[in-house]
Amino acid sequence: MASITDPTLQKPLTSVEVARIKADFEILEHPVAGNELVYLDSGATSQKPRCVYEAEQHYYETANAAVHRGAHTLAVEATDIFENARATVSAFIGAAPNELVWTSNATEALNLLTYSFSNASMGRGGEAAQRFAFGPGDEILVTELEHHANLIPWQELAFRTGATLRYVPVDQDGALRYELLDDLVNERTKLVAFTHVSNVLGTITEVQRFVQAARRVGALTVLDGCQSVPHLPVDVKQLDVDFMAFSGHKMLGPTGIGGLYGKAELLDAMPPFLTGGSMITHVDMERAEYLPAPQRFEAGTQRIAQVHGLATAASYLEETGMQRIAQWEEHLGHLLYQGLSTLEGVRVFGPKDATRIGTVPFEVIGVHPHDVGQYLDSRGIAVRVGHHCAQPLHRALGVTATTRASTYLYNTEEDISRLLEAVGSVREYFGV
Ligand code: PLP
Repeated sequence: MASITDPTLQKPLTSVEVARIKADFEILEHPVAGNELVYLDSGATSQKPRCVYEAEQHYYETANAAVHRGAHTLAVEATDIFENARATVSAFIGAAPNELVWTSNATEALNLLTYSFSNASMGRGGEAAQRFAFGPGDEILVTELEHHANLIPWQELAFRTGATLRYVPVDQDGALRYELLDDLVNERTKLVAFTHVSNVLGTITEVQRFVQAARRVGALTVLDGCQSVPHLPVDVKQLDVDFMAFSGHKMLGPTGIGGLYGKAELLDAMPPFLTGGSMITHVDMERAEYLPAPQRFEAGTQRIAQVHGLATAASYLEETGMQRIAQWEEHLGHLLYQGLSTLEGVRVFGPKDATRIGTVPFEVIGVHPHDVGQYLDSRGIAVRVGHHCAQPLHRALGVTATTRASTYLYNTEEDISRLLEAVGSVREYFGV
């Protein structure tokens, strides 16, 4: 099994450092059901270190104003904070500032793409936007691993334009069937959208195989970085994808903020999705002309405090070291996968030999995942239950729901032991 990172580049995180990191997350100090909280639901949303919400509070106390509009001091300060945050977060993913569009979350980033492409399909954006126009005969390729956020927008784009949606299936363990890529990507393929890390299985996709296949036929590539940007070092230039979506709330940032990366020449050629104030150069009663990216995609008053909080989160991650975080979580993921696999009456999902982050789904045979979740909650352990917004993947795995444990940099080996001990007692508790 390949390792996620090169351990020679940075010293691994130690348990002492993780304990220090944990102390930055006040919520983890609050007991749940009389027990110390073990938070293993970071795949859904991460907890936030104190510095993130203090940054937001400081912004409201000292600099609150609308950006890009006013001539007064506060407006200038707010604009500086907003654009400095763009510089910080774009550097965090290896992009230039003008290649990062702020969105509410990854879902909105992916919908932005599909609605912009719909507009291009109706002729908006002129000649330059024709490469984003879809119609009958064109194919969009996704995978069976996808979160609904990187599936339904493409389904809708296909419905609206007459294009055909195809997908790379998984095998019975949930491993992507890469061997089918060469057949599935053909001269009709116009776009390939795929996840970097499965939010259900925690497995890491071989991005280069998708990018190479897409390049061969001149198709656009869209990476769902929702579960990779928080947990792995991600460099969009190295990955060479055309677009990438991610969410701030999964990477220690506030809710309500996320991003869309796009290569500058592509973003500048795309027609806008939302229109209105702050994204135009000239407006008359019949028509308008638009600013270049990223402003052309940022209509209306922006989420300045959230953007500032997200930049603070990115700096926190950077200072800790993404390589080190990835290594720590690979270690926790290994403990989780091995530990759950050895429990009697527990079935673990996902390919055995995959490289994965600290996300592992499982089933306690004979006990509904919702009951498992409630039992764990009564012992202070927070996990996710259900289909995790990936119904097709669950269907391919032959189940309707799973229980998912997902780690982050603040989780300790002790957290994993407590989960394993509690899962080990589920069947006895329910008399199965
Ligand atoms: N893609 C993946 C892989 C996810 O895990 C999620 C959220 O769980 C999303 C997309 C959607 O993220 P959001 O709900 O923040 O838009």
